[in-house]
Amino acid sequence: MPVGKIIKALSGFYYVMDGDQVIQCRGRGVFRKQKVSPLVGDMVDFQAENPTDGYIMEIKERKNELVRPPIANVDQAILVFSAVEPDFSTGLLDRFLVLVESKEIAPVICISKVDLLDTSGLSRIEEYAEHYRKIGYEVVLTSSIEETGITDLMPFISGKTSVFAGQSGVGKSSLLNALDPELNLKTSEISSHLGRGKHTTRHVELISIGDGLIADTPGFSSLEFTELEAVELSDCFPEMRENSSECKFRGCMHVKEPKCAVKEAVSSGAIESYRYDHYLQFLEEIKDRKPRY
Ligand code: GDP
Ligand code: ZN
Repeated sequence: MPVGKIIKALSGFYYVMDGDQVIQCRGRGVFRKQKVSPLVGDMVDFQAENPTDGYIMEIKERKNELVRPPIANVDQAILVFSAVEPDFSTGLLDRFLVLVESKEIAPVICISKVDLLDTSGLSRIEEYAEHYRKIGYEVVLTSSIEETGITDLMPFISGKTSVFAGQSGVGKSSLLNALDPELNLKTSEISSHLGRGKHTTRHVELISIGDGLIADTPGFSSLEFTELEAVELSDCFPEMRENSSECKFRGCMHVKEPKCAVKEAVSSGAIESYRYDHYLQFLEEIKDRKPRY
């Protein structure tokens, strides 16, 4: 049976992409049997009735699932932070990184609008970029206006399903257009192929860029740690995760415990102190969280 990926869900139809083809499918019994509704991003077995219509027979197991926007099997989040307008903030970046890490989604950090920086501003941003690269993150500096860094971003998108995330105004839409100037054209082509009007923003849809797929709605709209437990937090900081096995006490929270390898790494400068400060701040936030009912 052919396998495809749901790229759009609308009015009870699921649009399943299989190579170059998009097949309009219904969900024949699949919800009741598997007790789960298909999501955009799902890999599904489908049966084609004819070249354009078919039925979803089974949903493959999901790797992960976002709630807002509702999308399954996200490989990667491209975290867009402007260098200026609004100013770059490590606090906000670390918050996004933790949320992404907690979903086991690979982050790519994109620092946008670098054309607005003067020389000293640029060297400050490059210094931050180095900190995050040292942790193991990919960091790309871009300008959609000068079209710099766009070709560096392209290989990350290839062959993956990505969501863009970041505050409004950081330049996500501009980046998408720089990545693919024909994007609007392509989107309307897909829509007319599906016999629908222009795509609406109320529904999440995966759009093709190169040979990758990108959600047309930004991810991680809620920045609260609602699903994360305090004990899981340090695992969302790769450089803490790396050191924590050396802590004297099992289950060390890296706060007041003696012989804590994480705190030693902060003292020696191996872990940036602002990253540790953000850890402490997020930890308090999780502990203060009201129980959910
Ligand atoms: P979004 O809300 O994240 O999708 O951001 P937009 O792409 O709509 O961009 C917000 C504003 O920033 C717009 O006025 C853009 O023209 C501007 N902008 C976006 N990217 C760049 C860039 O690389 N350089 C400069 N100077 N401005 C940019
Ligand atoms: Zn510790």
